[in-house]
Amino acid sequence: MNFNKYDVVVIGAGFSGAVMAERFASQQNKRVLVLEQRPHIAGNCYDKIDTNGVMIHQYGPHLFHTRHDDVWDYLSQFTEWHPYEHKVLAHIDGKLSPVPFNLNSLYAFYPEQEAIALESLLIKRYGENAKIPILELKETDEPALQALAEFIYNKLFVNYTCKQWGCKPEDIAPAVTARVPVVLNRDDRYFHDKYQAIPKAGYSKLIENMLSHPNIQVKLATDAKNYLQLDLASKQVLFEGDVFAGQLVFTGMLDQLLDYAKGELPYRSLQFQFEQHDKEYFQPATTVNYPNDEEFTRITEFKHILSQKLNGTTIVKEFPQDYDRHDPKCNIPYYPIFNEQNQQAYEAYADVIGDFDNVIAIGRLAQYKYFNMDDAVKNALNCFSKPEGG
Ligand SMILES: Cc1cc2nc3c(=O)[nH]c(=O)nc-3n(C[C@H](O)[C@H](O)[C@H](O)COP(=O)(O)OP(=O)(O)OC[C@H]3O[C@@H](n4cnc5c(N)ncnc54)[C@H](O)[C@@H]3O)c2cc1C
Repeated sequence: MNFNKYDVVVIGAGFSGAVMAERFASQQNKRVLVLEQRPHIAGNCYDKIDTNGVMIHQYGPHLFHTRHDDVWDYLSQFTEWHPYEHKVLAHIDGKLSPVPFNLNSLYAFYPEQEAIALESLLIKRYGENAKIPILELKETDEPALQALAEFIYNKLFVNYTCKQWGCKPEDIAPAVTARVPVVLNRDDRYFHDKYQAIPKAGYSKLIENMLSHPNIQVKLATDAKNYLQLDLASKQVLFEGDVFAGQLVFTGMLDQLLDYAKGELPYRSLQFQFEQHDKEYFQPATTVNYPNDEEFTRITEFKHILSQKLNGTTIVKEFPQDYDRHDPKCNIPYYPIFNEQNQQAYEAYADVIGDFDNVIAIGRLAQYKYFNMDDAVKNALNCFSKPEGG
């Protein structure tokens, strides 16, 4: 492959890579090559119609929401939208109730008179519409509210978090717990952003449209590591041994790029079990969480997302698992595992990359960060518009 006929080589065709490729092509008239190791574009947002006719998300349910006008305006050039507000239920003691825990959840779990009393205690103390971190509620001196906090913490939060991260209850960081709110209203929506919608023809089509610029060429099923090397001594990027003078945009894992020279960065992985059912609906909401009773964390029924009218339905169960790059059953790095030690290990890699003038390391893998889709898009737009990015 003649890499030097391109001005920019982008590794990875997820949102981060697609935004960078599109910007370089459309704003600077650069010739761009995108290499993607998977046989498809769109990274973890990849979706497709399955044999049931249902639009499924191969790597787990992806619900778009953003408060950023610039992200919304940018993506709207490449897709029409299907309005969609996400709702999540939790399956607890045989009952379904809204997540995050709100006043509707209270009435689902407690007998009416008790729920009325608790509601009035909560509103009196914290005010209508308050979002109370569960740790704060646990510290209340009111025994009835303390008992409620214990119930929510134990039934909704602890086991789910332990399954998700493979940890013990005592190892859950207070900072994680502090983010779990109890919401004093009856709004069952999971997100509250200004824009909440799903690309009408799917995420894959949206990203295909972004990459359809005539200056962009995409090569699928191509692991960049088979071609790409970083010469640490000369700080030069090499493709097939030749110096590449253009811009490299890398959206993969930095430890892989640097041959794990400083050890492996830890990740959490997931296994997805898809099931097709011969019935109109499997469950009343897109996502139902199973904090306590099952090995999986949640079930998502995709046809709710685009309001598809079909006879059959498709669901997916998510089983969190340890990541192991040598084992094909769990070698997809879904979530970075955040702690100080891992952050330092990441920064050691980022420092090495920082010495290369023509390498941009960007995205959830290359920055070892959890990004929602809109964050990933905003991050890439910002990076491109910085003098050293564009
Ligand atoms: C289970 C799950 C659910 C999520 N749900 C939501 C949600 O509901 N809403 C939301 O906003 N966000 C959600 N996200 C986050 C969303 O997936 C990310 O924001 C988005 O994928 C980030 O895009 P990216 O391009 O940075 O990374 P990716 O999508 O991972 O793209 C990176 C690409 O680089 C490729 N690559 C890596 N190394 C190489 C190599 N050596 N050679 C060639 N190609 C390579 C990979 O194959 C991949 O395609 C979810 C994430 C997960 C894991």
